[in-house]
Amino acid sequence: MSYLISEEGQELLGTVKEFCDKEVKEQCKEYDRTGEWPKKIYDKAVKMQLHMLEVPKKYGGIGLDRISTAALFEQMAMADAGFATTISASGLGLKPVLIAGTEEQKKRACKRIVDGGFSAFCLTEPGAGSDPGSAKTTAVKDGDSYVLNGRKCFITNGGVASFYCIAAMTDKSAGTRGMSMFYVEKGTPRPFHRP
Ligand SMILES: Cc1cc2nc3c(=O)[nH]c(=O)nc-3n(C[C@H](O)[C@H](O)[C@H](O)COP(=O)(O)OP(=O)(O)OC[C@H]3O[C@@H](n4cnc5c(N)ncnc54)[C@H](O)[C@@H]3O)c2cc1C
Repeated sequence: MSYLISEEGQELLGTVKEFCDKEVKEQCKEYDRTGEWPKKIYDKAVKMQLHMLEVPKKYGGIGLDRISTAALFEQMAMADAGFATTISASGLGLKPVLIAGTEEQKKRACKRIVDGGFSAFCLTEPGAGSDPGSAKTTAVKDGDSYVLNGRKCFITNGGVASFYCIAAMTDKSAGTRGMSMFYVEKGTPRPFHRP
């Protein structure tokens, strides 16, 4: 279906294919064995701006169209599923901000990615995978802030993200309609534990 891919996408596809065939495929095999985070590969991917394919142009990203982006992810996945998941999940973690964030949040989140960071989309919990409505993480208003409490699992980029979009219940009685997304930057201090 290459005719659906934009000219910009076609150009990138060639570059990505070469990078994936020559470097990602072989190196990731080794990283799978050692269990290490493949920093060298992601540093190169960031240099090639692959981490910002889905950041809109107006916020300094590539702003690539959906079909071309999907074709690039497919190419990455052919070399290594983990590599493709990290890059695509980072775009997923940005989506809630782009859809519903304030202008300030959009600029902030996009800048974090453009500067070389990754994001994480945090929905799944132990006991709440296919059925996110049964999630137990809560967000309770405390003055001007919300306090989030709960546990997430299987979060791609969980250990390396610059920011997290975290789904939490603000009104458990409303099911999924009582669930909101919270933009949380890495290093956000935990609230004092009140006895
Ligand atoms: C590589 C990887 C990366 C991931 N990254 C993220 C991430 O970045 N962020 C995030 O939030 N989550 C992430 N996840 C979690 C993923 O979204 C969940 O694994 C998924 O939602 C399924 O949930 P579960 O694993 O709890 O399985 P379950 O919900 O327990 O499902 C187990 C099995 O039961 C089947 N099943 C469930 N309910 C029904 C039903 N009602 N009827 C029939 N069959 C049913 C399912 O199809 C499945 O086969 C990731 C998972 C993987 C494997």
